[in-house]
Amino acid sequence: MANMKERVDQWLRDAHAMEQQAEHVLSGQSSRIENYPELAAKLDQHLKETQSQRERLEKAMERRGIKPSGIKDMSAKFTAMMQNFSGMFAGDEVMKGVLASYTFEHYEAQSYRILAAAAKTEGDNETARLCEEICKEEEAMAQWLRDNTEMLTNKYLHLEESEHASAKR
Ligand code: MG
Ligand code: FE
Repeated sequence: MANMKERVDQWLRDAHAMEQQAEHVLSGQSSRIENYPELAAKLDQHLKETQSQRERLEKAMERRGIKPSGIKDMSAKFTAMMQNFSGMFAGDEVMKGVLASYTFEHYEAQSYRILAAAAKTEGDNETARLCEEICKEEEAMAQWLRDNTEMLTNKYLHLEESEHASAKR
């Protein structure tokens, strides 16, 4: 059985690996977009935020005396889920990307809520505060996607009707 510290450490490593994957997915996504400048700009902004999240997690891990484990140590299930998310974008389906991103931001937000609660229970209030802060960034990204659903969907439908091929990017 893991003690509290080991469990929080493991969840921090998981979060770090999740952000590494997120960096990969976000940069791929934004580079493929051609006709949705607002979405591309938002993805770029969240990519920078994601890189900063990874760095802040690294500082927290250093403070706790542990090291990131890297993507290779992520559970197979999680890796498959992330590949599924990125695979949706490879099909050039911008709306499927928007759908997957919304889901993923909620996955991240809830991961940080759990981690914040765990760190608080363990007595590491600084890590708890960091996770609450990152959670808010994930919620804001999800909220942007939610708020722009109509704009993106309308644009997609009109582009598809007029140009067909390029609507998907
Ligand atoms: Mg994140
Ligand atoms: Fe995120």
